[in-house]
Amino acid sequence: MMGTEIPNIVVIGSINMDIVVETPLVPDKGQTLLGNAMTLLPGGKGANQAVAASRLATHTTLIGAVGQDSFGEQIMQNLDGHSITRAIASLADESTGIASIWVHDRDNRIIVVPGANGKISWEDIESQKSFIDHANVVLLQLEIPLETVVKSIAYAHRCGKKVILNPAPALPLPDEVYPMLFSLTPNLHELSVMADMPEVLDEGNPDALQRAMRKLIDKGLASLTVTLGAEGAIYMDASGNTFHVPGKKMTVLDTTGAGDCFNAAFAVAVAKGQPMKRAVEYAVAASALAVTKFGAQNGMPESDEVEWFLQ
Ligand code: ADP
Repeated sequence: MMGTEIPNIVVIGSINMDIVVETPLVPDKGQTLLGNAMTLLPGGKGANQAVAASRLATHTTLIGAVGQDSFGEQIMQNLDGHSITRAIASLADESTGIASIWVHDRDNRIIVVPGANGKISWEDIESQKSFIDHANVVLLQLEIPLETVVKSIAYAHRCGKKVILNPAPALPLPDEVYPMLFSLTPNLHELSVMADMPEVLDEGNPDALQRAMRKLIDKGLASLTVTLGAEGAIYMDASGNTFHVPGKKMTVLDTTGAGDCFNAAFAVAVAKGQPMKRAVEYAVAASALAVTKFGAQNGMPESDEVEWFLQ
């Protein structure tokens, strides 16, 4: 790709409406009580990552599914406002995915009802495959059925596309997936599940992180980028290169969507043909900016802000 071209990113993933209820108490069995406030916020990892990528000045297409209901309509309008190309199936007899989030005393209790996200099939994706054919990078997560994710990855890989998988929420992956990925981007918890090494989360055991990363690389991965929250991110690839990009010191307002921002920014930098060190630095800077603002999609930075912050 020439340096001046705007890259094409295709995100294949979940689309939700988050129903955020602030409550003074958590109800007991059989109890009804009055909450303080309710806010509707468009969410879902697929939609969040698509919004972040579009803010970072890319042509972004979101492939996913909603139900034929009012949340689905509101979500479509919201995506238009972000200049995202919608390749979204509207599934009859399914509800749009929701997350019911109770916020009490700064703690969250969350119930996700996947609805249409849980029903999206390879046939739904295949009907939109011309977008994949024109992509520089295809970015996926694990909030839609695993079989659909695996078939989508296989198609994009056959087309010679760079595929980035954000394995969230964590699931053990079929072995055939690893060699088809350009990069896998777990957070620390997801790495511990995928490598089946709980000791990764043990602070007194820094060696375990490297061993877990090597274990996944040995499954045929080209590269692995692990996000470490405030500590930034660590990279390893199949030729043995490894580096750590330290986190930026920020005044944190809301870390929701930090991982989504990291993935989108990493995908954008890869799509622009940036070297991996620069791509991880760009993603750490973008996601650091995201934690200084409230809301997942609202908190995503613009490309100018990230460039300025990186100087
Ligand atoms: P997730 O949101 O998926 O759990 P992380 O917590 O690892 O993922 O965060 C993703 C990225 O967001 C990190 O690599 C880092 O760059 C940035 N980030 C997260 N929390 C902070 C923080 N407290 N301060 C600065 N940057 C942060």
